[in-house]
Amino acid sequence: MTASPNPARERQKVVAIVGLTRCGSTLLDLALGTQPGIVGLGEIATVLRPDTAGIPRTASCTCGKVETQCNFWAPMRSLLDRHASADADEKYRLCLRMFQDQFGAGTVLVDSSKSIRSVQILKQIEHVDLRVILLVRDVRAWIVSRLDDRAGNPAKFSTDGVYVRNLHYHFGRTASAVAWMIPWLTRSPLYYGCLWHLQQWRLLRRLQALGVSGYLASYEMFTRAPEQEMRRILSFIGVDQGAGINLSASRSHIIAGNPNRDAPGRREHISYDDRWQGRSDWRLPFVLPWVRKMNQQLVYENHGQLLDS
Ligand SMILES: [Zn+2]
Repeated sequence: MTASPNPARERQKVVAIVGLTRCGSTLLDLALGTQPGIVGLGEIATVLRPDTAGIPRTASCTCGKVETQCNFWAPMRSLLDRHASADADEKYRLCLRMFQDQFGAGTVLVDSSKSIRSVQILKQIEHVDLRVILLVRDVRAWIVSRLDDRAGNPAKFSTDGVYVRNLHYHFGRTASAVAWMIPWLTRSPLYYGCLWHLQQWRLLRRLQALGVSGYLASYEMFTRAPEQEMRRILSFIGVDQGAGINLSASRSHIIAGNPNRDAPGRREHISYDDRWQGRSDWRLPFVLPWVRKMNQQLVYENHGQLLDS
């Protein structure tokens, strides 16, 4: 396959999944890739980040190949290497061009980067028909997931670990002021409870400021009734016909996303991660009334609705 010399100009429908880290976006991306005419590419923004260009390319893609053999990401990485000095907007356009060359402009692209930055870029690309899904996970499940990640990967949360590097990438010098506290803060359920609330509030506010009307999806509702929720999401995306969700048959090419995406059993069926129900470490932050209220509204009452733009 050779990429055409000019960026894609045909209309391209893109679904951007927005949410917090560990909100279930990779699962939703994979599930969408099981539907006719939809292909997911995982966290595109992570792959396009200039500070990740030098990382060894040993990730496995959800297509079953390593990224250097993947039919999409191998040529895409070569193209990015040739345009290493391009800005994020130009790199995204190259990605759209490669996608259209490979899958045709009629195929829906899913980007599960989760970031508002992707939404900002996509909004500015004139031929993109953008649909945004805000995916929210129950704060109790989220806190437990974050605490377990912290306990299992202490190096990631050290003062020079990935967590602090990401803070630097997103917040610049401000991150330096809090970096020394990270190893301590990230052991605290209260920190994660407040962070969940702050980040959800910020995402909602920024989507509103961008004038984006998104679809509010709940990880809990999706994992409990996947087929039903998929029908509603497809209707929002504007795809008429759905199919059963067979994760092992997903056509998505995800090299950046949940590191457990290909763990044994993860592709057999969709199941709810209910670890938090046997734990009590989420209880303290869950006492905060604003956290409880937002959790109830976003996850259980308003899911499946359109967010006001
Ligand atoms: Zn692949």
